[in-house]
Amino acid sequence: MGSYRDSDSDYLHESSQESDGVRRSKHPEIVAMRASIAKRDDEIERLRAESENLALENAELMDRIEELYWEFLSMRGVEKDDVCGSCNGLGVKTYASTSTWRRGIGGQAITNDVCDSCWGSGRKSVTWANLRKLEDER
Ligand SMILES: [Zn+2]
Repeated sequence: MGSYRDSDSDYLHESSQESDGVRRSKHPEIVAMRASIAKRDDEIERLRAESENLALENAELMDRIEELYWEFLSMRGVEKDDVCGSCNGLGVKTYASTSTWRRGIGGQAITNDVCDSCWGSGRKSVTWANLRKLEDER
């Protein structure tokens, strides 16, 4: 926490011919500067604490997303140890062109389509109908 404490440097030292000592008076700019620094220190401390809280909250949310992802895959019958490495168990993946799993010439658009590794099952142990093979046989 920022704190304000008087310091000797806060004072103007003026000699006075009438008095035998030195007259001390607070230097207003230094006093204002110290108050400003203390206020900024408090703000930095507050923001640091807020940042730590947000990082914790973010970590909790990321854990929850992970849990929900595995719940979703479990609903599809995909277990953690049997996830297709190509589509991460989704059965669908993103292709760099509109040709998707068909290969060949395609348009210049990122396109989602069935995974050409598990063919939609999302599992590495079980693959669904290989559409490329079916198309070749037509
Ligand atoms: Zn796949």
